[in-house]
Amino acid sequence: MLKVSKDACIGCGACQALVSDVFDIDDDGLAFIRENADIEKYIDDVNDAIDGCPTGAISMED
Ligand code: SF4
Repeated sequence: MLKVSKDACIGCGACQALVSDVFDIDDDGLAFIRENADIEKYIDDVNDAIDGCPTGAISMED
């Protein structure tokens, strides 16, 4: 399951810029996973977002 830690996110927007079909920014300026996001379709970009997040806020767990 793909997750964003709101405690760790600093709202830089990098994940959204990389794959806006999966990540969005909420009213507080923090990232979240879009409802019904097709993670498998964008898995390469999602992995890039995980690797590129400056605070390690994005994680993928079973
Ligand atoms: S890349 Fe990381 S810190 Fe930046 S908005 Fe996305 S989750 Fe937050």
